[in-house]
Order: sequence, then C-alpha cells, then structure tokens
Amino acid sequence: MFESLSERLESAFKQLKGEGRISEINVATTVKEIRRALVDADVNYRIAKEFTDRVKDKAMGEKVLTAISPGQLMVKIVKDELVELMGTTEEELDLKANPTVILIAGLQGSGKTTFSGKLANFLKTKKNKKPLLVAADIYRPAAIDQLKVLGGQIGVEVYSEPENKNAVQIAENAVKEAKANGYNVVIVDTAGRLAVDEAMMTEVSNVRNAVKPQEVLFVVDSMTGQDAVNTAKAFNERLDFSGIVLTKLDGDTRGGAALTITYTVQKPIKFVSMGEKLDTLDVFYPERMAQRILG
Ligand code: GDP
Repeated sequence: MFESLSERLESAFKQLKGEGRISEINVATTVKEIRRALVDADVNYRIAKEFTDRVKDKAMGEKVLTAISPGQLMVKIVKDELVELMGTTEEELDLKANPTVILIAGLQGSGKTTFSGKLANFLKTKKNKKPLLVAADIYRPAAIDQLKVLGGQIGVEVYSEPENKNAVQIAENAVKEAKANGYNVVIVDTAGRLAVDEAMMTEVSNVRNAVKPQEVLFVVDSMTGQDAVNTAKAFNERLDFSGIVLTKLDGDTRGGAALTITYTVQKPIKFVSMGEKLDTLDVFYPERMAQRILG
C-alpha cells in the first residue's frame, strides 16, 4: 500500500555511502522523506513538520554505528521520538472513587456508544466492576435503544429517561441510582453532533460540571485524519478531557491521527477500538502505534 519509512530512508541514504556521521546534508535529504511518510500516514502537515524538526536536532551528529546503516539509525531515532511523544507507558483508568464516573464525549459516529459498551464489558469482566451505562443523548431516541441492545448483550444495566430532555438531570439521576444500587462505575454516553457546535459543547460541559467525572474520555475516529486536530482542540478546550480513545483502527488507516491528537492536546491515548464486537477493547501501546505509522 505505502512504501515504508525504512524503505524510503534506505533509498535516500543510498547516495550518501561512506558518511560516518549523520550530517546536516544527509539529514536534510531524509527529513523530507520522513515528513512525507508521516503525511501519508495521515499526520497533520504542521505537526509532521514540527516533529521532523525535532528529529533533525536529535539526529545531527549521531554516530552511524558500523552494524547498522544510516537509514536504520534514522528510523530508530524517528521511532523512539514517536513513542516518546505518544506516551511511553500504557495509561490506566482512575477507578478509585465509588462510584467512579466516566464521561464519554465525541462527535456523532465516532464510536462513542460502541466504546461505552466495550468499556462496560471490559470493566465487568476484567476489573470485576459493576458498571451502569447511562444514555444521555436526548436528541436521538435511537441512541437509547442502541445502548440498551449493547447492554443486553453484555449483561450491563442501562439507565435512561426517554421523556427527559435535560442531559444534566439524567446524568445526575444516574449517579444517584448508582449510589442507591451498588453500581461502582457510571459510564455516561453523551450526545454528539456531526461537527463541533456550541450547543453540544455547552451541554456536555454542563454535564461534566454537574457530575464531576473522574475520567473524561474523548472518542475520535482514527479515519478522520487531518480534521482530528481541530475537533480534539475544541473538545479539550471545553472539557479538559483526561484521555483519548482512538476508534476504528481495524480499518486500513495508518493511524497518524494518534500522533496529531496527542501532540496537539498533550493528553494520553488510553484505549484503541479495533472493531464492532464488544470484546475487542484494546489498551493503547505507543510502540505498536509508532510501528504502524512508520509502516
Ligand atoms: P456514536 O454515534 O459516536 O455513538 O457512534 P457509534 O458507536 O454508534 O458508532 C458508529 C458506527 O461505527 C457504528 O456503525 C459502529 O458499529 C461503528 N464502529 C464503532 N467503533 C468501531 C470500531 O472500532 N471499528 C469499526 N470497524 N467500526 C466501529
């Protein structure tokens, strides 16, 4: 599909045989290739540029070890830098509070509801929790039904108030219900729109202020590529989210959105979603993602 970064760099370095160190000249040649590879992997152009400037500084003057070629050394520098930027450790959820409230936000179609189901299933089966799913989308009655179907599949209760058009009240009532009935995690699936809009942002930030969640997870479709920067920024400004969920990584995207988003908002990616089945929730591994971006 794409030429991998290693292949690109190997050919860029072919003309430079005999160089003992990475120098200004051969770095300039390869930095362009790295930038192209990142943009091909859907990394935002401006971010690809900033990233390659950092790599350039790191690479300058590095000794080319006899065992490996300059191309491979450069790939290693790039990969290490990617891993560092995307977070070198897996992030855990903060589940100490009882109940722990987790707010799920993102654009419509990003995979919020599917992720909410996956997360509930993960917490129930892997963390021994008793989660309550909350349908706080007051605009799409179908969203309540969708969550109920998911809840039914995994044996998790769904809280909803179909007649209530106040998302804040629904979320508050759900937390009360959790306290009264021994649910120790409350997962609030909020409404999304097709694009960032003021009404949605106000509503979701009101819900946030009312129920004071321990985690606010921003769900983003990895296929959205370049647009992801603005969406992530807008959500982060209003919600100051605690983590990112990157969905639809089972598609053929190279996942450059992962770098774009974490770099822009400086927040960790906590989970990736790789399919519609509810048992496929995956923790985010920066190493794997770096490899995927580089091809
Ligand atoms: P919401 O509007 O944000 O709640 O999004 P949904 O959870 O309804 O997901 C929108 C569509 O994407 C649905 O058709 C889901 O089945 C699909 N979807 C969600 N997550 C994934 C994923 O990780 N991989 C794939 N291939 N499809 C997904």
